[in-house]
Amino acid sequence: MQHPLNIANFDSWLQVGHPPLVISGPCSAESEKQLLQTASALSRIRQVKVFRAGIWKPRTRPDLFEGVGNKGLEWLNTVREETGLLTAVEVATGEHIERSLKAGIDILWIGARTVMNPFSVQEISGALQGCDIPVMIKNPVSPDINTWIGSIERINLAGITKLAAIHRGFYCYNKSIFRNTPMWDIPIELKRLFPVLPVICDPSHISGRRDLIPEIAQKALDLEMNGLMIESHIDPDNALTDAAQQLSPKDLRSLLNHLEIRKKSGDETFKDTIQQLRGEIDMLDSELLNILARRIEVVKKIGENKKLHQVTILQLKRWQEIIQDRLEKGARMGLREEFLVRILNLIHQEMIDLQNQVMNNEKNSNDQVEPD
Ligand code: PEP
Ligand code: MN
Repeated sequence: MQHPLNIANFDSWLQVGHPPLVISGPCSAESEKQLLQTASALSRIRQVKVFRAGIWKPRTRPDLFEGVGNKGLEWLNTVREETGLLTAVEVATGEHIERSLKAGIDILWIGARTVMNPFSVQEISGALQGCDIPVMIKNPVSPDINTWIGSIERINLAGITKLAAIHRGFYCYNKSIFRNTPMWDIPIELKRLFPVLPVICDPSHISGRRDLIPEIAQKALDLEMNGLMIESHIDPDNALTDAAQQLSPKDLRSLLNHLEIRKKSGDETFKDTIQQLRGEIDMLDSELLNILARRIEVVKKIGENKKLHQVTILQLKRWQEIIQDRLEKGARMGLREEFLVRILNLIHQEMIDLQNQVMNNEKNSNDQVEPD
């Protein structure tokens, strides 16, 4: 059962003015000089309010740079003193939390690999009992919204109310241009389930390449994400981790200045027009549902005939013909092929399930009335 979350108002806990909140800083703290130079440049960018840096780095291979560890906490304190930026680090264990709290870090985040493991999240939750620190929870590596929600709930149950989710994309076996596929429907569903929970987008870990970051950042804002976490480095090409996706402070400034921050709603003329168009959409959706219901009736009749004549459900040749024909027709109507393939596959799968019910459920009930 879903827990109602007890969440503090986002504006009140960060007190950084209007969203989007911008969090930036290097993937990893490498040296005090690198941190201070990066932070000092970022502090001159109006939109940046929080400085991030990983000091304990979860790495895929054992021989990779695993972060500078505890001494990075002191560097972050100097960053706060010298720049006034709030500081944020990734934590993965109870000990990380204890040390970060003692060092006076302002915000903690839990990384994608840690969120996947309920034991780790439970340990973190235990270490956070009685604290009032803001915690941001990244989505798990795999596209599993329930694990994400479960981790948010565990942290909330520790009494943490200053919570935000971070959308950093999902690992997918099928390679796309993105390092982690955004799968926007998942953060949108999270927002639908928990409208009070702020969601921050991390275009750096979604993109994996700096040239893709602007389009992801813009899309995130257009989907009403409450903030952006973007990796930046004083010398990105020579960063020890995630070099390909880090921006220089100069490029970050330019990116932020080019983002369109759109309103949630418009004036009366806009509202009237939208209302009228939404009326049309409602009508069209009714027609769509109607057509689907009629299609199902026909498919069931086909199923009954297949059953009667002992013919298999899947008719590959017919399915290939349907796909080819519908894609050609769709293309003439301006429908995108990828969208059509997805929708046709969904419909086909549902129709197979229905015919399976027609064929096999009735067979089972017949078995009962006609035993051998
Ligand atoms: C990071 O923020 O540097 C990081 C390791 O991210 P993620 O947990 O999203 O992979
Ligand atoms: Mn990183």
